Amino acid sequence: MNDQDYQLLEELIATPSPSGYEQPVQRIVRRELAEIAEQLQSDLLGNLVAAMPASASDGPRVMLTAHCDEIGFLVKYIDDNGFIFFAPVGGVDPHLVPGQRVRIHAANGPIPGVVGKKPIHLLETKDKERVIPFTEQFVDIGCSSRSETETLVAIGDPMTINVALERLQGELVTGRGFDDRMGTFAMIRAVQLAVRQALPCKLYGVSVVQEELGLRGAQPASFGLVPDVALVIEIGHASDTPTNDPKVVGEVKVGGGPVLSRGPNVNPALFELLRQTAAAEGIPVQVLGEQRATSTDANVIQLSRQGVATALVRVPTRYVHTSSEVLSLADLDAAVRLLAATIRKIKDRESFIPL
Ligand SMILES: [Zn+2]
Repeated sequence: MNDQDYQLLEELIATPSPSGYEQPVQRIVRRELAEIAEQLQSDLLGNLVAAMPASASDGPRVMLTAHCDEIGFLVKYIDDNGFIFFAPVGGVDPHLVPGQRVRIHAANGPIPGVVGKKPIHLLETKDKERVIPFTEQFVDIGCSSRSETETLVAIGDPMTINVALERLQGELVTGRGFDDRMGTFAMIRAVQLAVRQALPCKLYGVSVVQEELGLRGAQPASFGLVPDVALVIEIGHASDTPTNDPKVVGEVKVGGGPVLSRGPNVNPALFELLRQTAAAEGIPVQVLGEQRATSTDANVIQLSRQGVATALVRVPTRYVHTSSEVLSLADLDAAVRLLAATIRKIKDRESFIPL
């Protein structure tokens, strides 16, 4: 990955975007696509649609999409001593949170804090084996009264764990919320790459919100857009760690290339187009069998209105929904190239009707 791309990924990962509070990331998407888009439009939920110019006016409508929200927290209650109680936004694992450094994204800027926890020395034996529920976790920002905390933090402010993108060995990187800001990155770069040539289709780069709360953004976004074809970019659980079983998860390796999902949630002809394009471009891919509706935006988009030819391109990711997810920059670059090359081949809607 070149420096410019790494900087964009770093910026996206550093930008807080818990579900419902995605505007800071959407502003980056807007900035990146403003120059090449024919039109940029946000809907009432905050979904952002960037319409690209098409050479054929009757070409199919193609939605390239990723969700820009991340899991996080929201300020729920401030006690008399100024400690802040919070609720998870999306699927946060409660036992990973105590001891973390956090940022509360308040009206006047980010407020640093820590998630407090009783020291291990003071825990009773039975409590050492217990996951501490969120109702027993709290944030200490250094204030000593409710009124002091209230001058800085308001009920409903979003909060994120404060960790930055960092390189590991080789092409591997770790960061918070690759799910799915790495998808936001791939969407932006694939759109930019695809439009370097005149397209036979009408391409829309769509950055959707609130996926982590149950695919809430993609549903109205696809209803409003009425796409014929959709390509969804998401994380894929890697099974190449000591504790993930490939018999359950499927065989997915970080560094093995983008993952093409195959199953009822994926249009067979679009899957074949992706696979053949990957072969023609010399891009390694992995195939993941998914026997049911996936828990991704691909599910609601496929079922939108009269149905949409949908495919799911996943980037192998370890430790998903922790603050230290891991992926390979080579896989991410490959996903961008694969998506752009595939979009250039989408010429007609009819070829995706299963017959
Ligand atoms: Zn996701």
